[in-house]
Amino acid sequence: MNRQENLERLKSEAFDVCIIGAGASGSGLALDATLRGLKVALIDRGDYSGETSSKSTKLIHGGVRYLEQAFKNLDFGQLKQVRHGLAERKFLLSNGAHLSKPLGILTPVFSYWEGLYYTIGLKMYGWFAKNDKLPAARWLSRKEMFLVSPDIHPSAHSAVMYFDGQLDDARYALTLAQTAHQQGVATANYVELTDFKKDADGKISGAFLKNTIEGETFEIKSKLFINCTGPFSDHLRILANPEDENRIKPSKGVHIVIPKKYFGGEKALLIPKTKDGRLIFVIPFKSHILIGTTDTPYDNLKEEPMLTKFEIEYLLETANRYLKAIPKPEEITAGYGGIRPLISAKRKSPKDTKTLLRDHEVEIDEKSGLISLLGGKWTTYRLMAQDTCDAICRILNNDNPCKTTDFKLIGCQTEFSIKKPEDLKLESFKHLKGNYGDQTAVILKIIEKEPELKEKIHIDFPFIKAEVKYVCEYEMAESLRDFFARRTRWEILNWDACLASLDTVANIMSDTLDWSDERKNKEISDYRAILEKFKKSTTQN
Ligand SMILES: Cc1cc2nc3c(=O)[nH]c(=O)nc-3n(C[C@H](O)[C@H](O)[C@H](O)COP(=O)(O)OP(=O)(O)OC[C@H]3O[C@@H](n4cnc5c(N)ncnc54)[C@H](O)[C@@H]3O)c2cc1C
Repeated sequence: MNRQENLERLKSEAFDVCIIGAGASGSGLALDATLRGLKVALIDRGDYSGETSSKSTKLIHGGVRYLEQAFKNLDFGQLKQVRHGLAERKFLLSNGAHLSKPLGILTPVFSYWEGLYYTIGLKMYGWFAKNDKLPAARWLSRKEMFLVSPDIHPSAHSAVMYFDGQLDDARYALTLAQTAHQQGVATANYVELTDFKKDADGKISGAFLKNTIEGETFEIKSKLFINCTGPFSDHLRILANPEDENRIKPSKGVHIVIPKKYFGGEKALLIPKTKDGRLIFVIPFKSHILIGTTDTPYDNLKEEPMLTKFEIEYLLETANRYLKAIPKPEEITAGYGGIRPLISAKRKSPKDTKTLLRDHEVEIDEKSGLISLLGGKWTTYRLMAQDTCDAICRILNNDNPCKTTDFKLIGCQTEFSIKKPEDLKLESFKHLKGNYGDQTAVILKIIEKEPELKEKIHIDFPFIKAEVKYVCEYEMAESLRDFFARRTRWEILNWDACLASLDTVANIMSDTLDWSDERKNKEISDYRAILEKFKKSTTQN
């Protein structure tokens, strides 16, 4: 994905659809639309997956909580969502196989009756997943439980294990965009839609885009504009039609990241009930453990949500009953906050975001012609894209069917068996295959030409120097944060190690992207300031 070439295409070509926002929703839609033969543009004002889509719990699931609520409240809407999620689970697991995997999740119980309740519930959850190869839920004895997951609290009676999926969310969304580009989409990051051009009746006839790196503004020509801006959707909806009302009720969710030694094994943990009636997951993710999430209303969409001291204490206190030992707050190595794009529904207590449905809606504004894809969740991105693309195709008289159910993404399009070069560390080789799939071969070619780039960047992490060059040349990484936060997931694993590696990464990016010294130094100081701000936030309420 060469940014300059794509910018030229955005300026000079005329498109059927221009998709605004390259998170899970926008990137998923771009792939669906191009596979149906439409001419597609995809832009994001930040990086690919720079907002909510890189900050999720990373579960591919129907949602066990929704199933419980569906039965308790006889709410068939919730049941439908569980079924949608479970039906989509298998597509995500097979189409981006190098970035996703089945995940065993243990629910510790503290009595026989509790065990029976969760066994019945989780077995039913499995029954809703049709044609799925994931193992059925199973009640483990106390001994089995400790064999599988040695760090569960000794007071637990036993545990019920069930299976869902896990994905590397940021890389999955980036790979969707990359695959869409491979199939013909013109796309660039750091391009913001700043205004619409409208005719006398208020119908959108074009839009103005700003390249936020180089600063230029230009017009894009497209028959339709699709708003896939997640939690930020209301801004574009109102810009398109000022008479419209807000539909999104943003909600903040945070995760803390702790060292692996506190929760060994491969399986995750479901804490089924917190003191405020939620559920929390403890999940192995790469070399660390994520604990989350929270759910609180969030209004300040201009500020990146950050992890606070209070949230750390809440999550650690919740984990305390379930884990043998928990870290001290100062042992947290990283954390992150995201904003859920919940659709507001008329409810008795609109302040309580936990009661809002996680569903999606394709909204067509008759006056302006703007189409907005609202709400949804990561797991159902493909279905959301299909529904939106069906609506687009009805308008554009295109009757090509959706092709995304079994379309493989870049990284797992070919059967591959790549041999580890003798002088490359095994942990780095494994990491490359997990992160880049069959594209690892391209990184190995870089190492062949420049053997010094096989070196690790930091002694405690598997990331190597050649990756920096690769993500600049092939994955449109434009800033230090693109590399640390999204091309690799280093930023959500360990802030101190990122800080220690800034100069090394900046030097390689600077050489590859031809940065001036001024640009390089600014990149280092800007990103250092962000990391320092995250660290400071954990000591404040
Ligand atoms: C804490 C948390 C945990 C979650 N866990 C899960 C989970 O485990 N499983 C699951 O299925 N779902 C989960 N979700 C939900 C899921 O992450 C979201 O539904 C999904 O990522 C939303 O994707 P999106 O593309 O709609 O929005 P985003 O990812 O936010 O993308 C919107 C994009 O629009 C861009 N944009 C905004 N304005 C403009 C503009 N004017 N011009 C150009 N670009 C613009 C932004 O830069 C952004 O990149 C979780 C959400 C949160 C917050």
